Amino acid sequence: MTNVYIGLGSNLNNPIYQLRKALQILETIPATHLQNHSSLYRSKAIGPKNQPDYINAVAVLSTKLSPFNLLKKLQDIEIERGRTRKGKRWQARILDLDILIYGNMRLHTPKLILPHPELYNRMFVLKPLYECVPNLILPNGQRLIKKVQLLPEVT
Ligand code: AMP
Repeated sequence: MTNVYIGLGSNLNNPIYQLRKALQILETIPATHLQNHSSLYRSKAIGPKNQPDYINAVAVLSTKLSPFNLLKKLQDIEIERGRTRKGKRWQARILDLDILIYGNMRLHTPKLILPHPELYNRMFVLKPLYECVPNLILPNGQRLIKKVQLLPEVT
């Protein structure tokens, strides 16, 4: 089993409901256990203005699935929840599920980058991650607590 951290985000169609629903669905992924999850955080949208705020959370999974099979399951869940992938980058979305960290794996392919390329920059990811695993050492060797202390508060 590999420990995996998933970032969840939504800013459409009742985002709080969307995240609660997504957490329930994560429990049904085969060969995978939902170990823990953070509380829900609110953040301002990146990219196009006049978007509703995001609700974000982090889920801790352990899985026997490969990173690519897990990504496929997450994308199936996004589509099941009504997300379409036609839109532009950073557009409002019903559900976004990202693999933040997959064990110690480092990967750089067109489909999947591990750790997630924005992991180190996004407070709305680092804060809930810190709530779940305060002692986490990030894949770059940095202690998560140090990183969280350095970044500004989420509004
Ligand atoms: P997004 O619009 O944020 O959902 O990103 C969509 C694309 O990012 C997907 O088509 C994935 O193939 C790709 N991607 C690359 N690395 C990751 C990752 N670590 N987790 C999730 N998606 C990823």
